[in-house]
Amino acid sequence: MNLATKNKIIRIVLPIITAAVVLYIIKSNEHNKEVINNQAFEERFGPVMGTSGYVKIIPTSKMQSSAQDAFAVAYKATKHAEALLSRYNKSSDISKINLSKAGEKIQVAPLTWQMLMESRRFYMLSNHAFDPALGALIDIYPWKERNIDALPDQEIISSALANSGFDKISFIRDGMYVSKTNSSVTLDLGGIAKGFGVNIMAESLREQGVESAIIEIGGEIAIIGSPDIEHKSTQVIGSAEKIWTTGIKNPRGNGVIKKFASEGGVSIATSGDYEKYFTVGNKRYSHIIDPRTGYPTEGGIISATIITRDSCTTADALATAVSVLGVEKSKKLLRLYPETTAYLILNDMTEVTITGGLEEEEFKETVEKDK
Ligand code: AMP
Ligand code: MG
Repeated sequence: MNLATKNKIIRIVLPIITAAVVLYIIKSNEHNKEVINNQAFEERFGPVMGTSGYVKIIPTSKMQSSAQDAFAVAYKATKHAEALLSRYNKSSDISKINLSKAGEKIQVAPLTWQMLMESRRFYMLSNHAFDPALGALIDIYPWKERNIDALPDQEIISSALANSGFDKISFIRDGMYVSKTNSSVTLDLGGIAKGFGVNIMAESLREQGVESAIIEIGGEIAIIGSPDIEHKSTQVIGSAEKIWTTGIKNPRGNGVIKKFASEGGVSIATSGDYEKYFTVGNKRYSHIIDPRTGYPTEGGIISATIITRDSCTTADALATAVSVLGVEKSKKLLRLYPETTAYLILNDMTEVTITGGLEEEEFKETVEKDK
């Protein structure tokens, strides 16, 4: 790797390590706030992708319509994706696949195909830790309860495990057909659809000339430009504070555990065991299933945040995959993703940061050389 590339990685990765993530979107600079309060369009929206969302758009002169109209178009695009992908909508492409019999060929829309191909890539690259065909397993656990007496019986888990797995889904590219080798296997895109929805919304906003916005669905975030973009064009501002600030929720308490300043073009996603979970006695079970065992994951990671210059779909899928893989295997996976950082909180509340695209030693060496 040449020095220019290393410098580029450091320039992008370092602010991200000391920067980025979820749910708390906080503007920091007071002066800037004035400018934004005059102009920003802000909206909470949903339900979409089974959750709610938030958008903030700073209008600029390049925009083809008002921020409100731009948002309306982007929201419609995301709702369209949801209508195709939700397993809770009986007429969605995903429901058609889920209800189909083994061998039946289901033709899907191009957007569904795109989502399935992306899902398949993460399934393969994560060594099957990210598996979008775990519907049968997800359905046997009591997600609506907080406390239960015991896990489902081993036979129930084994049988659901036998009816799970993306290897039981096959694809015919010509005509975009999907079929199953086992009638009971069902798709559940819960680990990737929120990020995909954020992407669709961000792409739509960009196409409409939006240069500055933050978009969030269920904690997954995409950032377009800087919040003081208009202001910057009228005077030189040398402040690094004029960027979006996000925060990682404390997985075992209230509030934000870390605040980050996040640059435009960055996507952020978090998977954790603190919103959707149940307990048996004192033991907490996460909503992320380990596809190897059929049980809720026990990798020791209670919060996994991915910050990347890749898409929000990637951030979302990787956050889920990393939660299953645990720290060491995640390091291997993240080598495939440059300009990506994983910020992990373990069950003893220790923190681990993995830098994508580089081995830790390689990264340290690079930092030393650039000092
Ligand atoms: P996330 O919050 O993005 O990690 O998504 C968690 C959701 O993804 C769960 O509620 C399930 O719907 C689904 N899911 C659970 N385990 C997995 C897994 N191993 N791979 C892919 N999706 C999963
Ligand atoms: Mg995810």
